[in-house]
Amino acid sequence: MGENKKHLLTRMIKAGEGHDLTSIRTPSVPIFQTTNYLYDDVERGTEILLSRQPGHIYARYTNPTIDALNEIVASLEESESALSFASGMAAISSTILAFCQPGDHIVSSGFIYGGTYTFFQNQLSRLNIEVSFVDPRDHDAVAGAIRKNTRILYTEPLANPTLIASDLSFWHQLAQKNGCKLVVDNTFTPPPILQPLKLGCDIVIHSATKYLGGHSDLMGGVVCASAADIETIRPVMKTYGPIIAPMIAWLLIRGIRTLGVRIERQNENALALAAFLEKHNRVNKVFYAGLPSNPQYDLNRRQLNGFSGMLSFDVKGGWEAAKKVMQNLKTIIFTVSLGDISSLISHPASTSHVYLTPEERAQIGVTEGLLRLSVGIEYIDDLIEDLHKALNKG
Ligand code: PLP
Repeated sequence: MGENKKHLLTRMIKAGEGHDLTSIRTPSVPIFQTTNYLYDDVERGTEILLSRQPGHIYARYTNPTIDALNEIVASLEESESALSFASGMAAISSTILAFCQPGDHIVSSGFIYGGTYTFFQNQLSRLNIEVSFVDPRDHDAVAGAIRKNTRILYTEPLANPTLIASDLSFWHQLAQKNGCKLVVDNTFTPPPILQPLKLGCDIVIHSATKYLGGHSDLMGGVVCASAADIETIRPVMKTYGPIIAPMIAWLLIRGIRTLGVRIERQNENALALAAFLEKHNRVNKVFYAGLPSNPQYDLNRRQLNGFSGMLSFDVKGGWEAAKKVMQNLKTIIFTVSLGDISSLISHPASTSHVYLTPEERAQIGVTEGLLRLSVGIEYIDDLIEDLHKALNKG
């Protein structure tokens, strides 16, 4: 009431400030759209600001909406702790920078997302951190690449875009034997498909932009790990500042609520499309984890709970033919990114892997005719018909 005595111009600024939310409980996590926080008294505030007592200080450090997101993703991956970022690349780069010093070495699968590959090659080399790229299927080569100064083993369980699988049990044993951290990008195979920490991996990263968000309307990244490892990464996040926004964290939480049903439908649709494409006479080869013709089918069956919504296929006739297929599609849309409820098609050689040399692309099977399909939750017959018509028109 006393506030009402203040001038209108002051009330415009002060009315409602510190509105008490502590007794309100809601099923949906609220968006705490604030940069800073209020304290009951200066002494307690100072204790929190000096990190002597728990509490929020500044939104670059913590925010209740983001904390809720971290708790939810940690629960999905069954990790002790989690930390969210502004993008998948922010999560990847912050994690690597937290654990590597100049002079350190990383052994990475060479079959990884192009942006990560570029970060490893072009940015880490500037910091005198060297990365050896290996074929994740060649276990002798992976083990042989390890040096005394190797700190991190890095892989993607199903590689982008060729869906080559890494046997995480092998990678885990190797990491343990050599005292390295095993870091896994689980973007393509989110829970319930795979929970890498249960297989002994140390750190799991997601580009939350993809399946966790699920609607191509946000950018985010999350790292899941032990509390100790997250506390090693946190100072990098606090200092460099690649934080996720509260509004985006809220959107992500909403997306995650339907992850299970989306994944189930995407997996089903992808399996049906892979089987259809494998029989098509204009397709050279289909790359899908769930096809019995896949040389790693047994590993995929053992390691995955569902074969993912991602597949790639090599169109006969190279780039010109692949371009026509994409142009003729009506329901499936030509765009970058993945993990959406809509089916998305892209041409890795000119998008995600464009920064690799043609030789590097050839080495990892990214041919000119290769198309990557992120399968959505549409009605399957419509997707098959769309592909059928587009391939036959070519
Ligand atoms: N990891 C994988 C497997 C990806 O496909 C991508 C992006 O496509 C990233 C990481 C990077 O994520 P973001 O674009 O959110 O930075």
